[in-house]
Amino acid sequence: MLNDSVRQIKGVGEKLADALHVLSIETIEDLIFYFPYRYDVFEVKPIGELIHDDKVTIEGTILYDPVLTFFGRKKSRLVFTLNVEGISVKAVLFNRAFAKKQLQAGDTVTLTGKWDAHRLQITVSTYKKGRYEHDAAISPVYSIKGDITSRTLKKTLTYALDHFSNDIVEILPESYLHAYKLPERKSAVRTMHAPESRYKLKHARRRFVYEEFLLFQLKMQYVKKMHREATPGISHQYQETALHNFIESFSFSLTRAQDRALKEILEDMRSPYSMNRLLQGDVGSGKTAVAAIALYAAVTGGKQCALMVPTEILAEQHFLSLTDLFGERAKIALLTGSIKGKKRQLIRSSIESHDVDIVIGTHALIQDDVFFHDLGLVIVDEQHRFGVKQRRTLRDKGWQPDVLFMTATPIPRTLAISAFGDMDVSIIDEMPAGRKEVETYWVTDQHFPRVLEFIGKHIVRGEQAYVVCPLIEESDQLDIQNAVDVYEQLSEFYPEPIQVGLLHGRLHTEEKERIMKAFSTNNIQILVSTTVIEVGVNVPNATVMVIYDAERFGLSQLHQLRGRVGRGQGQSHCILIADPKGEVGKERMRIMTETTDGFVLAEEDLKLRGPGDFFGTKQSGMPEFKVADMVHDYRALETARVDAVEIVHNGLLESDPAYSKLAAYIESELAVTKKMD
Ligand code: ADP
Ligand code: MG
Repeated sequence: MLNDSVRQIKGVGEKLADALHVLSIETIEDLIFYFPYRYDVFEVKPIGELIHDDKVTIEGTILYDPVLTFFGRKKSRLVFTLNVEGISVKAVLFNRAFAKKQLQAGDTVTLTGKWDAHRLQITVSTYKKGRYEHDAAISPVYSIKGDITSRTLKKTLTYALDHFSNDIVEILPESYLHAYKLPERKSAVRTMHAPESRYKLKHARRRFVYEEFLLFQLKMQYVKKMHREATPGISHQYQETALHNFIESFSFSLTRAQDRALKEILEDMRSPYSMNRLLQGDVGSGKTAVAAIALYAAVTGGKQCALMVPTEILAEQHFLSLTDLFGERAKIALLTGSIKGKKRQLIRSSIESHDVDIVIGTHALIQDDVFFHDLGLVIVDEQHRFGVKQRRTLRDKGWQPDVLFMTATPIPRTLAISAFGDMDVSIIDEMPAGRKEVETYWVTDQHFPRVLEFIGKHIVRGEQAYVVCPLIEESDQLDIQNAVDVYEQLSEFYPEPIQVGLLHGRLHTEEKERIMKAFSTNNIQILVSTTVIEVGVNVPNATVMVIYDAERFGLSQLHQLRGRVGRGQGQSHCILIADPKGEVGKERMRIMTETTDGFVLAEEDLKLRGPGDFFGTKQSGMPEFKVADMVHDYRALETARVDAVEIVHNGLLESDPAYSKLAAYIESELAVTKKMD
């Protein structure tokens, strides 16, 4: 039986069972599904094609008997010369003195190891007497730790496969195997451990990638469905005509992407379930416009709504622009921490009596003594600043409003549907026509005087500039230009009346707000800062963004910073000052100068940094897969998602016998999750 303990395998005693336990292998099934984490592919290539520092395989004849020397304690080096296609190659083996007895002049050997192209030398990791054999060319490599050796693991695995693999049952419906041309489960397991060819391995892997993604997506879709059914929400009875007229009153027509996102949101609002949706779109893609329509929909349905933003400045900006946009259509109030006393009293009571339709504010909005008469929709801007806790606060107050999160951080679609699996996601991936793209340049440190001149030229025209530095003083021994230094340097360089301001994370909130306000009213022309300006401030008059040590930022972050300019009528510029050492760093700077598409940059970032690092911190809730890789296998993830949605939507797990194995799996998984809660 597959779910028997590994102790049932002949030759596995307590000691080996303990060693397997370290690898999280408890049952025979765990063992059989402990797949290699990579494969060594040995392929002999001509010497001239070998790349320096690569792992290579060569075949040749030993010219002289190997020479063994000892050094240190128990350390040894075995050296011999090999004739490869008439060229002499030096081979070195460390700490394998026993090989001296096995290798002699005249022997033909196949060696794998690290290639030094300058010295024509190979540092051998594995060797085999005899010619290169194609069959043995793909060799599985298992991740091991603790007391177990690769050899023991492989031996135990082989035994388990020989005796128990008949118990492996197919869990995917036949029709899926057929449609996607996936190998059947049992043979695919065997192929994963002992691939006969690259072709077979590719398809076995493809099968498990799909299986993993499908199970994962099924579980998420199922949880979502259960959650949905358990939390009834508001069915907004909005007025189509009023909405239509509102949209018509805009000075522009919605992009297709905005239209699509809006439809998805309105559908959620109309449904009797509570909305839990993420709206993603690059800075300036028109999220706020979509949000405004959603707010108005709630208002025409007789509900109140709240728009939560991370800072007071943003709250004020939104208040002004929405008041302008709505006109007489809705009563809008602003509620932030700094509104106190009588005025606050007044606003509070008008929220409670439903004299106000839309309230815009910071999170003071939900924390304090604020009570809505009939709250139907909450929109949360820059969702990564808020979270689960605030949602709970809403619920705890007895409200079940629809919730829409907005973020300007483009997250690659694959990550979005995985990391935010329990949310629905709408993406605005299209910019309104006629946008002026921010011109981006990459320069090195020595051009700094010219950068100063460039900033000055724009200030004289009445424009403003941001100068961003990655770290403040506390940093470290590294020679990083810090914000304080730069601030002093610029203050000295630019004559009165040009004002330079300094903003960093260690200032008090009030001080930060004061400086930001001075910048937004053009009382400060140049703002030197660390990355605290990242979150959505809007100063259309700022047209120059200078980013110091740009190589220290991720592409998404650079893009986010760059999005602070290009918000007005004039042409904006972004100057990256960077001196990246490696090719990858240079490539990243080049990409920045070539595209302003946040999703393209996010995809690149993901490729360069991997899903774990994408959010800067290790984001909890990022699933881990054994075989699948979210970045490279994104197509399979998309496919699996579509399939899972369909399966859950049509209730196939419950009704169709072909899905009974999948159903059993989901059931057992959910039982485990419940226990953990
Ligand atoms: P975001 O919130 O995504 O940063 P906004 O909704 O604030 O973007 O839109 C940025 C600017 O573009 C605003 O001035 C807005 O009026 C304008 N805008 C929004 N949608 C469109 C559109 N479809 N066509 C033209 N301009 C638009
Ligand atoms: Mg609803």
